[in-house]
Amino acid sequence: MTTETVPAVAGTTATTVDATTGPVPPAQPSLSPSRAADFKTCPLLFRFRSIDRLPERPTTDQARGTLVHAVLERLFDLPADERTPAAAGDLVAPQWQRLVAEQPDLAGLFDPDDTDGQAAFLTSARGLLDGYFRIEDPRRLEPAERETLISTVVDDQLLIRGYVDRLDVSPAGDLRVVDYKTGGAPREAFEARALFQLKFYALVLWRTRGVVPRVLRLIYLKDTEVCDYTPDADELARFERTLLALWRAIEQATAARDFRPKPSRLCDWCSHQAHCPSFGGTPPPFPEHPVAGGGRPGDPGTALPPGADE
Ligand code: SF4
Repeated sequence: MTTETVPAVAGTTATTVDATTGPVPPAQPSLSPSRAADFKTCPLLFRFRSIDRLPERPTTDQARGTLVHAVLERLFDLPADERTPAAAGDLVAPQWQRLVAEQPDLAGLFDPDDTDGQAAFLTSARGLLDGYFRIEDPRRLEPAERETLISTVVDDQLLIRGYVDRLDVSPAGDLRVVDYKTGGAPREAFEARALFQLKFYALVLWRTRGVVPRVLRLIYLKDTEVCDYTPDADELARFERTLLALWRAIEQATAARDFRPKPSRLCDWCSHQAHCPSFGGTPPPFPEHPVAGGGRPGDPGTALPPGADE
């Protein structure tokens, strides 16, 4: 089948034309928690990432987070009694090689001759995994789902979707959404963002499975801390209205081509200061046919503290 995608105005949809059968129904506008949080954090950051799609080079911290997530996902492929710290450590190097093969950008993080730097990087990932074992014993866990894409349509118009690190289901059917965080300080600057992300998942699960998750859990591997949050249906209904309002704001900003910078301490981690008027830069020309939205995989990097968005 031959298809061609006709760009649309951001906030609306792109239309796919099938050369053999004619127009295919347009895709729905969609929003991921990362992109929604971008707009809340800084509308101009949202524009740079979701509309201009400016490239962002991965940082070592982001790569470490990706690697640790990959190892924790694979760890649960092992029989329960083999999920030991040593087994996790043994997964680090092969998972890194797999990631580098899949994402060539990662290879550029280290000079090929810098074997000490790469070794230190892998050791630091093992350190975070040691932190995980101080929090949980994976031999006693059997996650229902890992790295799962979940999605739903809210208000018959907006597709919301995201990847859940881990979903646990108790024998009684209670859901626990688990998100691993590999970053540390300054946590106060992004804990609200992490909770926003988890409420996003809770809303999707509530709408698709009819159950409000009992627990939303953030696991901070670096600080070996756990943060549990218990949402309720009223709160998720309010959150749904908030998301729709956010999407309407994105649509309006797109139509007006007006995405303003919102400086904060998170600017320290932004890859786009050179294009940001708050730092003396100039944004690129607004695209003629912008399409907004998006989500992992393929999300650009982060303007957040290390690990904040992982
Ligand atoms: S530097 Fe700060 S204000 Fe500018 S785009 Fe990045 S996050 Fe927004």
